[in-house]
Amino acid sequence: MRYDFASDNTAGICPEALDAFLQANAGCHASYGQDDWTVQAADAIRQTFEHPDADVFFVFNGTAANSLALASLCQSYHSVICHEQAHVETDECGGPEFFSNGTKLLLGRGPNGKLWPDEIDRLVARRSDIHYPKPKVVTITQSTESGTVYAPSEVAELSAHARRHGLHVHMDGARFANACASLGCSPAALSWQAGVEVLSLGGTKLGMPVGEAIVFFDRSLSEDFAYRCKQAGQLASKMRYLSAPWVGVLKDGIWLRHAAHANAMATRLAEGFRQIPGIELLFPVEANAVFARIDSRVQRRLSAMGWAFYGFINEGGARFVCSWATQADDVDALLQAVREAIIETMADPSIR
Ligand SMILES: *Cc1c(COP(=O)(O)O)cnc(C)c1O
Repeated sequence: MRYDFASDNTAGICPEALDAFLQANAGCHASYGQDDWTVQAADAIRQTFEHPDADVFFVFNGTAANSLALASLCQSYHSVICHEQAHVETDECGGPEFFSNGTKLLLGRGPNGKLWPDEIDRLVARRSDIHYPKPKVVTITQSTESGTVYAPSEVAELSAHARRHGLHVHMDGARFANACASLGCSPAALSWQAGVEVLSLGGTKLGMPVGEAIVFFDRSLSEDFAYRCKQAGQLASKMRYLSAPWVGVLKDGIWLRHAAHANAMATRLAEGFRQIPGIELLFPVEANAVFARIDSRVQRRLSAMGWAFYGFINEGGARFVCSWATQADDVDALLQAVREAIIETMADPSIR
Protein backbone atom coordinates (compact mmCIF):
# COMPACT_ATOMS: atom_id res chain seq x y z
CA MET A 1 0.00 0.00 0.00
CA ARG A 2 1.02 3.61 -0.51
CA TYR A 3 0.29 5.57 2.64
CA ASP A 4 1.47 8.94 1.30
CA PHE A 5 -1.94 10.58 1.60
CA ALA A 6 -3.61 8.51 4.32
CA SER A 7 -2.61 11.08 6.90
CA ASP A 8 0.19 13.48 7.75
CA ASN A 9 1.27 11.06 10.48
CA THR A 10 2.29 8.39 8.00
CA ALA A 11 5.44 10.34 7.03
CA GLY A 12 8.74 9.91 8.80
CA ILE A 13 10.68 12.40 10.90
CA CYS A 14 11.77 15.59 9.17
CA PRO A 15 15.56 16.07 8.97
CA GLU A 16 15.73 18.95 11.46
CA ALA A 17 13.74 17.08 14.11
CA LEU A 18 15.79 13.95 13.55
CA ASP A 19 19.04 15.86 13.80
CA ALA A 20 18.03 17.35 17.16
CA PHE A 21 16.75 13.97 18.31
CA LEU A 22 20.12 12.37 17.55
CA GLN A 23 22.02 15.21 19.21
CA ALA A 24 19.89 14.73 22.31
CA ASN A 25 20.78 11.06 22.26
CA ALA A 26 24.43 11.79 23.00
CA GLY A 27 25.49 11.45 26.60
CA CYS A 28 23.46 11.39 29.78
CA HIS A 29 20.94 14.06 30.71
CA ALA A 30 18.64 14.87 33.60
CA SER A 31 15.34 13.01 33.47
CA TYR A 32 11.64 13.96 33.75
CA GLY A 33 12.03 17.21 31.88
CA GLN A 34 14.81 18.65 34.00
CA ASP A 35 17.25 18.44 31.06
CA ASP A 36 18.61 21.31 28.99
CA TRP A 37 16.83 20.19 25.81
CA THR A 38 13.45 20.49 27.48
CA VAL A 39 14.32 23.89 28.92
CA GLN A 40 15.48 25.02 25.47
CA ALA A 41 12.37 23.66 23.75
CA ALA A 42 10.01 25.43 26.16
CA ASP A 43 12.00 28.63 25.67
CA ALA A 44 11.83 28.22 21.89
CA ILE A 45 8.04 27.87 22.08
CA ARG A 46 7.77 30.95 24.32
CA GLN A 47 9.91 32.87 21.85
CA THR A 48 8.01 31.62 18.82
CA PHE A 49 4.75 32.72 20.40
CA GLU A 50 6.22 36.01 21.66
CA HIS A 51 4.95 35.17 25.12
CA PRO A 52 7.78 35.06 27.68
CA ASP A 53 5.43 33.99 30.46
CA ALA A 54 3.79 30.99 28.75
CA ASP A 55 3.91 27.68 30.60
CA VAL A 56 4.84 24.75 28.34
CA PHE A 57 4.42 20.96 28.78
CA PHE A 58 5.32 18.07 26.51
CA VAL A 59 3.15 14.97 26.15
CA PHE A 60 3.10 11.93 23.88
CA ASN A 61 0.11 12.68 21.67
CA GLY A 62 -2.77 14.94 20.79
CA THR A 63 -5.44 13.01 22.62
CA ALA A 64 -3.50 13.48 25.84
CA ALA A 65 -2.80 17.14 25.10
CA ASN A 66 -6.47 17.91 24.45
CA SER A 67 -7.88 15.72 27.21
CA LEU A 68 -5.54 16.99 29.90
CA ALA A 69 -5.80 20.62 28.82
CA LEU A 70 -9.61 20.48 28.86
CA ALA A 71 -9.64 18.56 32.15
CA SER A 72 -7.50 21.28 33.71
CA LEU A 73 -10.04 23.92 32.71
CA CYS A 74 -13.11 22.05 33.95
CA GLN A 75 -14.72 20.46 36.93
CA SER A 76 -16.61 17.23 36.38
CA TYR A 77 -19.95 19.09 36.36
CA HIS A 78 -18.86 21.46 33.57
CA SER A 79 -19.26 21.18 29.82
CA VAL A 80 -17.09 21.99 26.80
CA ILE A 81 -18.48 23.51 23.62
CA CYS A 82 -16.95 22.17 20.40
CA HIS A 83 -17.84 21.65 16.75
CA GLU A 84 -19.81 18.48 16.07
CA GLN A 85 -16.93 17.20 13.91
CA ALA A 86 -14.22 18.06 16.47
CA HIS A 87 -11.49 15.51 17.07
CA VAL A 88 -12.22 15.70 20.82
CA GLU A 89 -15.74 14.49 20.07
CA THR A 90 -15.19 11.99 17.27
CA ASP A 91 -11.65 10.61 17.68
CA GLU A 92 -10.49 10.61 21.28
CA CYS A 93 -12.49 7.72 22.70
CA GLY A 94 -14.02 9.91 25.38
CA GLY A 95 -10.59 11.01 26.62
CA PRO A 96 -11.67 14.55 27.54
CA GLU A 97 -14.68 13.20 29.43
CA PHE A 98 -12.57 10.54 31.14
CA PHE A 99 -9.75 12.78 32.29
CA SER A 100 -12.18 15.43 33.53
CA ASN A 101 -14.24 12.82 35.38
CA GLY A 102 -17.38 13.39 33.38
CA THR A 103 -17.29 16.81 31.74
CA LYS A 104 -19.78 16.71 28.87
CA LEU A 105 -19.09 17.90 25.34
CA LEU A 106 -21.78 20.13 23.82
CA LEU A 107 -21.84 19.98 20.05
CA GLY A 108 -22.19 23.07 17.91
CA ARG A 109 -22.59 23.40 14.18
CA GLY A 110 -20.96 25.50 11.52
CA PRO A 111 -20.04 25.17 7.83
CA ASN A 112 -16.69 23.79 6.65
CA GLY A 113 -15.76 22.39 10.05
CA LYS A 114 -15.79 25.81 11.70
CA LEU A 115 -17.79 26.47 14.81
CA TRP A 116 -20.31 29.23 14.23
CA PRO A 117 -19.86 31.90 16.99
CA ASP A 118 -23.63 32.14 17.53
CA GLU A 119 -23.60 28.46 18.42
CA ILE A 120 -21.74 29.35 21.60
CA ASP A 121 -24.56 31.68 22.60
CA ARG A 122 -27.18 29.11 21.65
CA LEU A 123 -25.57 26.31 23.63
CA VAL A 124 -25.02 28.51 26.67
CA ALA A 125 -28.51 29.99 26.60
CA ARG A 126 -30.23 26.67 26.03
CA ARG A 127 -30.20 25.90 29.72
CA SER A 128 -29.19 27.74 32.85
CA ASP A 129 -30.62 25.43 35.49
CA ILE A 130 -28.74 23.18 37.85
CA HIS A 131 -29.82 20.03 36.02
CA TYR A 132 -27.54 20.65 33.08
CA PRO A 133 -23.69 20.69 33.02
CA LYS A 134 -22.45 24.25 33.16
CA PRO A 135 -20.56 25.42 30.03
CA LYS A 136 -17.00 26.31 30.93
CA VAL A 137 -14.79 26.04 27.83
CA VAL A 138 -14.95 26.55 24.09
CA THR A 139 -12.50 24.44 22.10
CA ILE A 140 -11.82 25.03 18.42
CA THR A 141 -9.59 23.12 16.02
CA GLN A 142 -6.93 24.87 13.92
CA SER A 143 -6.66 23.90 11.11
CA THR A 144 -10.10 22.28 11.25
CA GLU A 145 -11.08 18.66 10.74
CA SER A 146 -12.32 19.75 7.30
CA GLY A 147 -9.00 21.24 6.24
CA THR A 148 -10.12 24.84 6.60
CA VAL A 149 -8.59 27.54 8.79
CA TYR A 150 -9.95 30.17 11.16
CA ALA A 151 -8.55 33.62 10.41
CA PRO A 152 -7.27 35.52 13.48
CA SER A 153 -10.40 37.70 13.34
CA GLU A 154 -12.59 34.59 13.44
CA VAL A 155 -10.69 33.21 16.43
CA ALA A 156 -11.06 36.59 18.12
CA GLU A 157 -14.79 36.61 17.46
CA LEU A 158 -15.23 33.13 18.91
CA SER A 159 -13.15 34.19 21.92
CA ALA A 160 -15.31 37.28 22.39
CA HIS A 161 -18.45 35.14 22.44
CA ALA A 162 -16.79 32.78 24.90
CA ARG A 163 -15.63 35.59 27.15
CA ARG A 164 -19.10 37.12 27.19
CA HIS A 165 -20.29 33.94 28.90
CA GLY A 166 -17.23 33.54 31.10
CA LEU A 167 -15.89 30.57 29.15
CA HIS A 168 -12.24 29.65 28.66
CA VAL A 169 -10.84 29.22 25.14
CA HIS A 170 -8.81 26.18 24.15
CA MET A 171 -7.40 25.47 20.71
CA ASP A 172 -6.69 21.99 19.34
CA GLY A 173 -3.69 22.90 17.22
CA ALA A 174 -2.77 19.44 15.94
CA ARG A 175 -2.20 21.26 12.63
CA PHE A 176 -1.57 24.73 14.01
CA ALA A 177 1.56 25.07 11.85
CA ASN A 178 -0.46 24.47 8.67
CA ALA A 179 -2.96 27.13 9.66
CA CYS A 180 -0.22 29.58 10.52
CA ALA A 181 1.62 28.97 7.26
CA SER A 182 -1.61 29.20 5.29
CA LEU A 183 -2.59 32.55 6.78
CA GLY A 184 0.92 33.94 6.84
CA CYS A 185 0.31 35.36 10.28
CA SER A 186 2.37 35.06 13.43
CA PRO A 187 1.74 32.22 15.90
CA ALA A 188 0.94 34.88 18.51
CA ALA A 189 -1.70 36.52 16.30
CA LEU A 190 -3.41 33.20 15.80
CA SER A 191 -3.40 32.17 19.46
CA TRP A 192 -3.17 34.34 22.58
CA GLN A 193 -3.58 37.64 20.76
CA ALA A 194 -6.90 36.31 19.44
CA GLY A 195 -8.00 35.17 22.90
CA VAL A 196 -6.76 31.56 23.05
CA GLU A 197 -5.76 30.72 26.62
CA VAL A 198 -4.55 27.15 26.19
CA LEU A 199 -3.14 25.61 23.02
CA SER A 200 -2.51 21.97 22.16
CA LEU A 201 0.37 22.48 19.77
CA GLY A 202 0.84 19.64 17.30
CA GLY A 203 4.29 18.22 16.69
CA THR A 204 3.70 14.74 15.29
CA LYS A 205 1.95 15.80 12.11
CA LEU A 206 4.43 18.52 11.31
CA GLY A 207 7.33 16.08 11.22
CA MET A 208 8.41 15.23 14.75
CA PRO A 209 8.91 11.60 15.78
CA VAL A 210 6.26 11.86 18.48
CA GLY A 211 4.75 14.39 20.80
CA GLU A 212 2.70 17.52 21.23
CA ALA A 213 3.16 20.53 23.45
CA ILE A 214 0.56 22.14 25.68
CA VAL A 215 0.98 25.89 25.93
CA PHE A 216 -0.74 27.85 28.69
CA PHE A 217 -0.75 31.56 27.93
CA ASP A 218 -2.23 32.24 31.35
CA ARG A 219 -0.21 30.70 34.17
CA SER A 220 -3.08 30.80 36.60
CA LEU A 221 -4.60 28.00 34.47
CA SER A 222 -1.56 25.70 34.57
CA GLU A 223 -1.37 25.33 38.33
CA ASP A 224 -0.65 21.70 39.24
CA PHE A 225 -0.80 20.71 35.56
CA ALA A 226 2.49 18.83 35.92
CA TYR A 227 0.81 16.51 38.43
CA ARG A 228 -2.05 15.91 36.02
CA CYS A 229 0.42 14.89 33.30
CA LYS A 230 2.27 12.56 35.63
CA GLN A 231 -0.91 10.89 36.89
CA ALA A 232 -2.09 10.37 33.31
CA GLY A 233 1.12 8.58 32.39
CA GLN A 234 2.27 11.47 30.23
CA LEU A 235 5.45 12.46 32.07
CA ALA A 236 8.25 10.97 29.98
CA SER A 237 11.31 10.09 32.02
CA LYS A 238 13.47 10.58 28.92
CA MET A 239 11.64 13.80 28.18
CA ARG A 240 14.43 15.06 25.95
CA TYR A 241 13.23 12.81 23.13
CA LEU A 242 9.88 14.60 23.15
CA SER A 243 11.34 18.06 23.54
CA ALA A 244 14.58 18.16 21.52
CA PRO A 245 12.82 17.84 18.14
CA TRP A 246 10.99 21.09 18.92
CA VAL A 247 14.34 22.84 19.21
CA GLY A 248 15.21 21.50 15.77
CA VAL A 249 11.99 22.49 14.00
CA LEU A 250 11.40 25.87 15.63
CA LYS A 251 14.80 27.14 14.55
CA ASP A 252 14.63 29.72 11.74
CA GLY A 253 10.94 29.06 11.13
CA ILE A 254 11.61 25.59 9.75
CA TRP A 255 8.31 24.22 11.09
CA LEU A 256 6.36 26.80 9.11
CA ARG A 257 8.35 26.09 5.96
CA HIS A 258 7.51 22.40 6.23
CA ALA A 259 3.86 23.28 6.86
CA ALA A 260 3.80 25.65 3.89
CA HIS A 261 5.20 22.87 1.72
CA ALA A 262 2.50 20.44 2.88
CA ASN A 263 -0.14 23.08 2.17
CA ALA A 264 1.28 23.70 -1.31
CA MET A 265 1.11 19.97 -2.07
CA ALA A 266 -2.55 19.92 -1.00
CA THR A 267 -3.23 22.90 -3.26
CA ARG A 268 -1.55 21.05 -6.14
CA LEU A 269 -3.72 18.01 -5.48
CA ALA A 270 -6.86 20.14 -5.30
CA GLU A 271 -5.96 21.84 -8.60
CA GLY A 272 -5.54 18.41 -10.15
CA PHE A 273 -8.89 17.20 -8.81
CA ARG A 274 -10.59 20.28 -10.28
CA GLN A 275 -9.41 19.16 -13.73
CA ILE A 276 -11.03 15.74 -13.36
CA PRO A 277 -14.71 15.65 -14.33
CA GLY A 278 -16.89 13.99 -11.73
CA ILE A 279 -14.71 14.88 -8.78
CA GLU A 280 -15.93 17.58 -6.48
CA LEU A 281 -14.04 19.26 -3.66
CA LEU A 282 -16.10 19.14 -0.48
CA PHE A 283 -14.43 21.97 1.44
CA PRO A 284 -12.19 24.91 0.58
CA VAL A 285 -8.58 23.67 0.60
CA GLU A 286 -6.86 26.03 3.03
CA ALA A 287 -4.29 23.82 4.74
CA ASN A 288 -2.77 20.40 4.03
CA ALA A 289 -5.90 18.27 3.59
CA VAL A 290 -8.12 17.73 0.55
CA PHE A 291 -11.63 16.34 0.86
CA ALA A 292 -13.17 15.19 -2.37
CA ARG A 293 -16.40 13.54 -3.42
CA ILE A 294 -15.33 10.54 -5.44
CA ASP A 295 -17.63 7.78 -6.66
CA SER A 296 -17.48 4.88 -4.21
CA ARG A 297 -16.61 2.44 -7.02
CA VAL A 298 -13.67 4.64 -7.98
CA GLN A 299 -12.64 4.78 -4.34
CA ARG A 300 -12.67 1.01 -4.06
CA ARG A 301 -10.68 0.74 -7.28
CA LEU A 302 -8.11 3.22 -5.93
CA SER A 303 -7.76 1.16 -2.76
CA ALA A 304 -7.34 -1.99 -4.84
CA MET A 305 -4.62 -0.18 -6.79
CA GLY A 306 -2.79 0.24 -3.49
CA TRP A 307 -3.62 3.78 -2.39
CA ALA A 308 -4.49 4.22 1.26
CA PHE A 309 -6.81 7.07 2.24
CA TYR A 310 -9.68 7.73 4.58
CA GLY A 311 -13.12 7.42 3.06
CA PHE A 312 -15.56 9.04 5.43
CA ILE A 313 -17.94 11.98 5.75
CA ASN A 314 -20.81 9.95 4.38
CA GLU A 315 -20.67 7.88 1.25
CA GLY A 316 -18.47 9.35 -1.43
CA GLY A 317 -16.17 11.51 0.68
CA ALA A 318 -12.44 10.80 0.64
CA ARG A 319 -9.69 12.57 2.55
CA PHE A 320 -6.14 13.06 1.33
CA VAL A 321 -3.55 14.67 3.60
CA CYS A 322 -0.12 16.01 2.63
CA SER A 323 2.92 16.30 4.87
CA TRP A 324 6.39 17.81 4.95
CA ALA A 325 7.53 14.72 3.01
CA THR A 326 4.98 14.80 0.18
CA GLN A 327 6.58 15.32 -3.22
CA ALA A 328 4.97 16.83 -6.31
CA ASP A 329 5.60 13.51 -8.07
CA ASP A 330 3.56 11.71 -5.40
CA VAL A 331 0.66 14.11 -5.97
CA ASP A 332 0.86 13.59 -9.72
CA ALA A 333 1.00 9.81 -9.30
CA LEU A 334 -2.13 9.90 -7.18
CA LEU A 335 -3.94 12.07 -9.71
CA GLN A 336 -2.92 9.69 -12.49
CA ALA A 337 -4.21 6.73 -10.45
CA VAL A 338 -7.53 8.51 -9.89
CA ARG A 339 -7.88 9.16 -13.63
CA GLU A 340 -7.11 5.51 -14.36
CA ALA A 341 -9.54 4.28 -11.72
CA ILE A 342 -12.28 6.42 -13.23
CA ILE A 343 -11.62 5.12 -16.74
CA GLU A 344 -11.54 1.51 -15.55
CA THR A 345 -14.80 1.76 -13.63
CA MET A 346 -16.46 3.52 -16.55
CA ALA A 347 -15.28 0.86 -18.98
CA ASP A 348 -16.37 -2.04 -16.81
CA PRO A 349 -19.80 -1.71 -15.19
CA SER A 350 -19.25 -4.99 -13.36
CA ILE A 351 -16.67 -3.34 -11.10
CA ARG A 352 -18.36 -2.80 -7.74
C1 LIG B 1 -4.30 14.03 14.82
C2 LIG B 1 -5.15 14.95 15.59
C3 LIG B 1 -5.05 15.03 16.99
C4 LIG B 1 -4.11 14.17 17.80
O1 LIG B 1 -4.35 12.83 17.69
P1 LIG B 1 -3.44 11.73 18.40
O2 LIG B 1 -3.63 10.53 17.53
O3 LIG B 1 -3.99 11.53 19.77
O4 LIG B 1 -2.06 12.24 18.43
C5 LIG B 1 -5.84 15.96 17.63
N1 LIG B 1 -6.68 16.77 16.96
C6 LIG B 1 -6.79 16.72 15.62
C7 LIG B 1 -7.71 17.65 14.92
C8 LIG B 1 -6.04 15.80 14.90
O5 LIG B 1 -6.16 15.74 13.57
